[in-house]
Amino acid sequence: MSQCQQRPPKSQLENRQAANRTTAVIVPALLIGIVGYATWIVVVLIGANYLIKHQSRNGAGIAVIVLYFIFLFPMAASYLRLLMTVPHPGYVERGSPTAATPVKPPQETPPQHNVQASCTSTKVQDGTNQNNTKPRPAAPQEPSVTVLDTKAILSGELPPPPGTECFYSKEVFACDQNGLPIWCGTCNNWKPDRSHHGSDLGRCVLKMDHFCPWVGGVVGEQNFNFFIQFCSYAGVYALFVMIVMAVFISEARSRGNPLGGNWIAGITLGAVFTLFAGGMSLTSISLGLKNLTTIDNIGHQRRVMHIAVLIDPMQQRQPRPMSTDHVKHTHGSEESEDPWQGTITYPLNAMPDASSETTLPPRTSSASRTFAILRTHPGMNPWNLGAFRNFESIMGDHWYDWFLPLRHSPCCNHDRGDSMYELGPDVERLKVDAGLSSSSKSRASSRRRHRKHRHHREDSEDMDIMGSTLANVNGVTGRERNSFESV
Ligand SMILES: [Zn+2]
Repeated sequence: MSQCQQRPPKSQLENRQAANRTTAVIVPALLIGIVGYATWIVVVLIGANYLIKHQSRNGAGIAVIVLYFIFLFPMAASYLRLLMTVPHPGYVERGSPTAATPVKPPQETPPQHNVQASCTSTKVQDGTNQNNTKPRPAAPQEPSVTVLDTKAILSGELPPPPGTECFYSKEVFACDQNGLPIWCGTCNNWKPDRSHHGSDLGRCVLKMDHFCPWVGGVVGEQNFNFFIQFCSYAGVYALFVMIVMAVFISEARSRGNPLGGNWIAGITLGAVFTLFAGGMSLTSISLGLKNLTTIDNIGHQRRVMHIAVLIDPMQQRQPRPMSTDHVKHTHGSEESEDPWQGTITYPLNAMPDASSETTLPPRTSSASRTFAILRTHPGMNPWNLGAFRNFESIMGDHWYDWFLPLRHSPCCNHDRGDSMYELGPDVERLKVDAGLSSSSKSRASSRRRHRKHRHHREDSEDMDIMGSTLANVNGVTGRERNSFESV
């Protein structure tokens, strides 16, 4: 009967997700057990038994116990806050199954490894200040990967999947080399700026940093500040435990008292976690000062990306000589690579029926918005606001937010009109280089930065890590570019 039916074999994704669920239970429990053990060593063995009971040093014993809990409390509070947010790290909503209509059937070899091609929607499942959509559980099955038929979309043969208005309503957004928002073939949705697809989760996460076994989940936009607080407090706490153990182990040895194995275990745990948590804290703060995630930081110096920048209808691009290729290779000269890649006008294919001759093309609509497609220089971070502002955007605008694990990061607020995240000065410099803006000061600063970028660059020919593999791009962008320049 049905009891004899064989269950289908689990996919790799299911196995990874099952392993993650196991990790999410075991590791936090292990961490809590270690802290409980350290509490017993410091409070009972050192404070109560050694200092108060045997040494009759009540003041020292009470001081050690009180200080221990002073250091323990903020770590425990931040860890609890972190655990509360782990189920909602900033998931991007999955696309509707109907979104598959304008896309090609899944490829025979799904590009599972390509985390750059992911999803989008400004609707974020975080349970807090984004919307009230409840997070969906991870996909139970290996998802099929769809690839946009970009050629058909750009030519008007197919309408784009829904949701592009969330991007072209802004002034700047991250895009592929066609000017389309980046597509997540697994989530079947457009991918918001700065989001990454976590293959272990089967979901896109805003500003995904990493999967953290210590908290049993993903660290992303919604909890990166709590992660930094937890690591910092844990490092200080472990340092305190290590120092206490070192002092009284040294004292006991000088008095000829026997050392228990628990004392040795206590100082060992203190030293290990001081290095580990302290290292994680310093690394995370360092990345936060640069407004980069751990994923962003991989190959950051060589990475280029495309951004779509809204062109003011009254503005014309400053004329400058162009090469026949989209990228101007000028090694050894003062000129940097030309970021200009072409233009794209939204809404795409606004006609309900592309074959209809009664509907005006969208390019003639007064509501159309034309964007320049700009290719960033290697290592450029459009969201780099400067170290202090970067730090504030993550840890909070007030100094007490830096220490209290209560409020989400200011960067979680996506109500900005110009872009999803606050843009740094490099975007303006890029516009200057593209002829979309003129500023002698910005241009001079931009050239200095480009020379610095070239210094770090090793291979300038194959740097477009973010770009998709669509082969029809050059023709489209080239046509758009010519039409724009002829205006
Ligand atoms: Zn995704």
